Amino acid sequence: MYDIIIIGAGPAGLTAAIYALRANKKVLIFEAKSYGGQIVNANMVENYPGIAHISGFDLATNLYNQVVDLGAEFKFETVIRIEENNDVVTNNGTYKSKAIIIATGAENRKLNVDRETELIGKGISYCATCDGNFYKNKDVAIVGGGNTALEDAIYLSNLANKVYLIHRRDSFRGEDAYIDELKSKDNVEFILNSNVVKLNGDNRLESIDVDTDGDVKTLDVSGMFIAVGQSPKNEVFSNIIDLDEKGYIKSVDGVHTNRKHIYVAGDTRVKELRQLTTAVSDGAIAATEAIKEMED
Ligand code: NAP
Repeated sequence: MYDIIIIGAGPAGLTAAIYALRANKKVLIFEAKSYGGQIVNANMVENYPGIAHISGFDLATNLYNQVVDLGAEFKFETVIRIEENNDVVTNNGTYKSKAIIIATGAENRKLNVDRETELIGKGISYCATCDGNFYKNKDVAIVGGGNTALEDAIYLSNLANKVYLIHRRDSFRGEDAYIDELKSKDNVEFILNSNVVKLNGDNRLESIDVDTDGDVKTLDVSGMFIAVGQSPKNEVFSNIIDLDEKGYIKSVDGVHTNRKHIYVAGDTRVKELRQLTTAVSDGAIAATEAIKEMED
């Protein structure tokens, strides 16, 4: 029997683990892929208080090592459901705990253009910092208008020959500071009010068709980075946990779900601001609440 099972080893889950372990609780963390969550894909994090610049990978690794040193148990298993009695069922077994914290984050949203899945790794990518190096001195496109797309465009502009930033509106959702930086780059071209409607190439991406107000043009690019936001993956909890229409977990007072002793932390819950800082805040609060209410 564990005190707390944490589902997801991103910043929210790992922060919850730090708080629980420092309160001498027995903690088990499930992670389906690898530690760090989405932050490992961030080339540079510059808005985390107290750390002016750090790569997402380094930050995630520091966090993971901190949790390992505190004595957390990790199991790289996939949670497939939570039973009515709060048992956690994975692909490998069934586990009991006094409290559960769901911190499953969110995953990259697809653009839903034909052949997108087929061409992943053959020109299509969702992670500029992971795959950008393959496109040194080549022409690439980025799709999206949020901070991820803008940051990716900045990162790729330092590697690629030419960067097309394609966005479906005439203004960006991301921060002005990034937009100003991109405007100052000679090799970045904004293609606004536009949608990618076709991917071309036999075995790998060679060009894309872009529709701007009904006018379709072909751009020769060898890579296209898709940064159109994230969506949660909470279907496995939907038997007992209340989700909103987009699949995010509804919460009361931030971290309480509709179920006693089950909490939620980070990007996977309904919230206004999905940031590293708000994820770690959720993790700390969820663990503290779980401990406080454990014997109720
Ligand atoms: P996001 O802010 O949700 O932006 C997604 C973008 O993709 C939007 O511009 C959206 O267009 C566009 N989009 C969505 N579906 C589309 C579709 N089917 N076709 C074309 N375009 C589509 O996602 P994000 O940029 O990944 O950022 C997620 C969160 O992380 C945000 O809160 C962001 O601020 C944060 N973040 C912060 C940092 C940082 O502070 N350093 C870095 C990265 C991310 P519309 O604008 O038309 O809806």
